[in-house]
Amino acid sequence: MSKHHNDINPDSCTACTSCISHCPVTAATRKFRGPKMMGPALERMRLSQDDVEPSLEYCSNCKNCDMACPSGVPISTLNMKARAQYFKTRKQSMRDEMLGHGEKMGKLISALPAGAFFANLGMQVGKAFGIMNAIGISDKLPLTYAGTSFIKQFKELKQTSYPDKVVFYPGCFINYQDPQVGMDFVAVMQANKYEVIVEEDFVCCGSPLLVTGYLEECEQNAKKNTAIMKKWTDKGIPVITCCTSCGLMLKQEYQELFEIDGLAENAKMLYDATEFLVNLDEKGRLNKEFGAIEHRYMYHAPCHLRVQGYGLPALDLLEMIPGLTIENADAGCCGISGNYGFKADKYDIAMTVGAKLFETIKESGVDTAVCDCGTCRLQITHGAGVKAVHPMSLLRQAYEAKK
Ligand code: SF4
Ligand code: SF4
Repeated sequence: MSKHHNDINPDSCTACTSCISHCPVTAATRKFRGPKMMGPALERMRLSQDDVEPSLEYCSNCKNCDMACPSGVPISTLNMKARAQYFKTRKQSMRDEMLGHGEKMGKLISALPAGAFFANLGMQVGKAFGIMNAIGISDKLPLTYAGTSFIKQFKELKQTSYPDKVVFYPGCFINYQDPQVGMDFVAVMQANKYEVIVEEDFVCCGSPLLVTGYLEECEQNAKKNTAIMKKWTDKGIPVITCCTSCGLMLKQEYQELFEIDGLAENAKMLYDATEFLVNLDEKGRLNKEFGAIEHRYMYHAPCHLRVQGYGLPALDLLEMIPGLTIENADAGCCGISGNYGFKADKYDIAMTVGAKLFETIKESGVDTAVCDCGTCRLQITHGAGVKAVHPMSLLRQAYEAKK
């Protein structure tokens, strides 16, 4: 449950150490001093002096500590605020500048003719000449830009108009890297007689900015997105995401970090796509005309979904598809945690964190994993060697199999 930023009190910590035993980065490296020390313990110091512990950079903001804390201390948010404090008097590296501002790059690439082709070629060249590693970005994980952004594809799409509407927040990853997920979401909503609205003025949710210490820019984005969402939520139109990290940011982290009018009201109308569809099912409104998919899958629940505490709605939905078998990997964090695993000096830690999940998937013998988070899907494919798809893609496939 989210805490308003004014309610964050490090003295709620009872020093039980539960967060330490649940922190995957603490288990993977001795370089990190752990959530109890980095969060509440040092926050007490920070309240009285400008004290920043260097190993703070190892926190991935995965939020497993928050899930484990019986006293409700938002440890990861304390860490991110301390990181922003650290960068108030220091300059971020070129690596952090690039990873924090992926939206700028995505916008530029999608505006240029053949921009994605040249960007992807540029990354290959950068990898071959060791430039990526030289600036601190791991060249091991594949990251490619889509030829046509989601927004551009959406504009060309002819939808059937329905009285029920939802606003879709695509986020940078779906917009620039994986637009098919957004298109599959629209198809699923149309199958449920909803018209999808997309606001071009939405900006990055701010998650990559937050983890690289750009808290003020993150707040500017939060203000813009909050105002746009409020325009719709005031009319009773829900806002839906297909990226669990964007959803967490819009719904929960904004409230923990900032004081902006409308945050709490918006949060009541903000849903992850699978959460929204399960709610539809509870109201007897879900279209269950699914065709069969005779296939076996392994599901990975992203940490940023689990911390929101609304269960595992993707599993509930996919289990309704005839012929489809799905198991919950239940193997912890995949390690990528947004842009953490893309940092050259964190790559090995991220792979160590994800090792249990990779092994679970490999041992299961499946050829495809299912996961709601885009960067988790990249990490799963990289670490376990299998394809990884979003639940919306399977739902769309099942609806189309029935036609
Ligand atoms: S957010 Fe993740 S990495 Fe950071 S302290 Fe918490 S559990 Fe550890
Ligand atoms: S789990 Fe919560 S109460 Fe326990 S040590 Fe960590 S921050 Fe303190």
